[in-house]
Amino acid sequence: EADGIVTNLEKAIIANNLSDDVQVLTTGCFGFCEKGPVVKILPDNTFYVQVQPEDAEELVAEHCVKGRKVERLLYVNPDTKEIISDSKDMDFYKKQMRIALRNCGLIDPDVIDDYIARDGYQAIGKALTEMTPEDVIDLIKDSGLRGRGGGGFPTGLKWQFAAGYDADQKYVICNADEGDPGAFMDRSILEGDPHSVIEAMAICGYAIGATQGRVYIRAEYPLAIKRLEKAISDAREYGLLGQAIMGTGFEFDIELTYGAGAFVCGEETALIHSMEGERGEPTTKPPFPAESGYWGKPTNVNNVETFANVPAILLKGSDWYSQIGTERSTGTKVFALAGKINNVGLIEVPMGTTLREVIYDIGGGIKGGKKFKAVQTGGPSGGCLTEKDLDTPIDFDNLIAAGSMMGSGGMIVMDEDDCMPAIAKFYLEFTVEESCGKCTPCRVGTKRLHELLEVIVDGHGEMKHIDELKRLSRTIKSASLCGLGQTAPNPILSTLDAFYDEYLAHINDKK
Ligand code: SF4
Repeated sequence: EADGIVTNLEKAIIANNLSDDVQVLTTGCFGFCEKGPVVKILPDNTFYVQVQPEDAEELVAEHCVKGRKVERLLYVNPDTKEIISDSKDMDFYKKQMRIALRNCGLIDPDVIDDYIARDGYQAIGKALTEMTPEDVIDLIKDSGLRGRGGGGFPTGLKWQFAAGYDADQKYVICNADEGDPGAFMDRSILEGDPHSVIEAMAICGYAIGATQGRVYIRAEYPLAIKRLEKAISDAREYGLLGQAIMGTGFEFDIELTYGAGAFVCGEETALIHSMEGERGEPTTKPPFPAESGYWGKPTNVNNVETFANVPAILLKGSDWYSQIGTERSTGTKVFALAGKINNVGLIEVPMGTTLREVIYDIGGGIKGGKKFKAVQTGGPSGGCLTEKDLDTPIDFDNLIAAGSMMGSGGMIVMDEDDCMPAIAKFYLEFTVEESCGKCTPCRVGTKRLHELLEVIVDGHGEMKHIDELKRLSRTIKSASLCGLGQTAPNPILSTLDAFYDEYLAHINDKK
């Protein structure tokens, strides 16, 4: 549909002799997926929603030629019925703050000059000409930035570790192996603003003393790959990657490695093995990649969203960034809202925003006016949070304290019709499928958990099955080798905790 809209807009612009005055830009994601495809007309910032290819002619003839807005394509507030034409007045955007997504929907990601026009590559320029590598690391440490891939490890400290090892070669790896069900944060950043990640990787390379960067990206993201390849090629042409970057003595270049879509390859040791052509299986740490990573060399691995924050921090300073969010989780977080929520889409909010604000103010509440039941955060490794958690300010520590975790940013909302043992079974299906099989507790244990859930959900369960679920979950959590196995029982444990009556109902009523 979006391609058809672009083609028809271009035709209508030519037909109306507007080629010298009006330009069509293909941008990355605006985030408001529920109302897509979106067409935004500048400079008056008119935001048209659910546009179809056949609407293009009317948009050009009315808006561009006659200066009249096409009302039927404007957003209508579902509560007040007010027609809103500027996205900044929409509830969906009002509480958002865009740092990682700052350019998505605003620039053409295939045009490097668009990125440069929005202060692109100024941060690497500042780092190379005004700062030592230690200054860069201190700045990132002071900003409080923590890894957005799920672990929440302090980014500056990670860079400091990698900088601390001497080696003839070091590597910077961007983990773009996003695999949580319902998650598309990293994909949208790469599709909408690939240069921000490239620039950040170069800054990291300067800070830790690396000249080589790799992006490990899943092959199922063809558009992100295409945009990244174009961005890397353009950056080389502009002297922003390769040798003597910006005329300095600093050298840094980036290559892509394609992943085959194994969830476990998001774990950094498995990712590195996969990049080396080995089976994508985790290994015990230490040694950490900072000491011995890609080809045994010191390696720093960060995910896409973490990197996307870095140029903004370099330019605006650590004080600016650390004042956003909560004390121990600074900045913003990107979430992919999915499930039974009115405004499915991609959002970025300051840390500390409550679940209620995300689900009701930004997400527009539950579909069909149904009752909220739970929200799953942290993907298959996370847990289900309920009504009592809605006023929890979202940050790394609060979500763990509430029984879930931040994860990489997937947020799936469930309503009163959802069966929680069945939801737990869905997540276990995923982990059984994605377990790499290296260690027995995870390989065999998750399969057994899934079998038990199947018995219960199908109405053949007994109390001994619930007891076994609990016992086995504890064993798998403590005995598995990597995070996948250690967290696989979380959806079961959190639903047993909050929705025990539903498990009992399946057993007692045999339903
Ligand atoms: Fe593989 Fe699971 Fe063991 Fe991790 S916990 S190493 S995914 S079998």
